[in-house]
Amino acid sequence: MITKTKGVVLKEFRFRETSKILTLYTLKYGKIQAMARGAYRPKSQLIANTQTFSYNEYQLYKGKNFYYINQGDIIDSFYSIRENIDRLMYGSYLLELMDLSTMEEEQNEKLFFLLLKGLSVLSKLDRGFVRFILAYELKFISFLGYKPLLDRCANCGNKDLNVIKFSIEKGGIICKDCFRQDNFCENMDSNMYKAMKSLLYTPLDEIMCLKIPECIMFKLHAIMEKYILNKIDREKFNSLMMLKSMK
Ligand SMILES: [Zn+2]
Repeated sequence: MITKTKGVVLKEFRFRETSKILTLYTLKYGKIQAMARGAYRPKSQLIANTQTFSYNEYQLYKGKNFYYINQGDIIDSFYSIRENIDRLMYGSYLLELMDLSTMEEEQNEKLFFLLLKGLSVLSKLDRGFVRFILAYELKFISFLGYKPLLDRCANCGNKDLNVIKFSIEKGGIICKDCFRQDNFCENMDSNMYKAMKSLLYTPLDEIMCLKIPECIMFKLHAIMEKYILNKIDREKFNSLMMLKSMK
């Protein structure tokens, strides 16, 4: 039975001489593995539809181990992401984040549309990459079900937030009475707190208007990276390791 769905290519692997196995994030089925037979043949009609970052409408049928791609129509290649090293590195992180955080065949429309929005904003970005990635991470982890609690202490509910820290374990800010008993929380001053709040709630294509110093962005990103790895139970992101080794 043939089915249609929109999807983004997260990963591609060569299989045998001329085929590819893709990891796709699709609107209907979430993350799936899909075989593109003959995609390496020079005249294959699937060449453009099987490249990392590309966004396509697919016709698929389900086999024993994989979905098989019958046909693909390109919606956006996001080609300009490949034309700039920063876009490419941060783009690779968006794809890796999606791949490592999701289970096979678990549909999540919000994550799908966030990925599309992320790729679309990134494809036109020339500066402010850390701010972009931070705003993306905050939205991503929220749609995954781990929205950081920012309006009261995540441990006791206290709303007196003059002195706070961020608790990765509790999933939000904690008050000074609570962080004394928690050895694994991250320092957070009021500027970092304000920045985190506004990056969480501002749409991705409006974040360049926010006034946030660069050093705050780096501190927050270090916290978010630890927070996400903790919630998805992973050790590291290869794309971020590569980014750090380049900078
Ligand atoms: Zn508390």
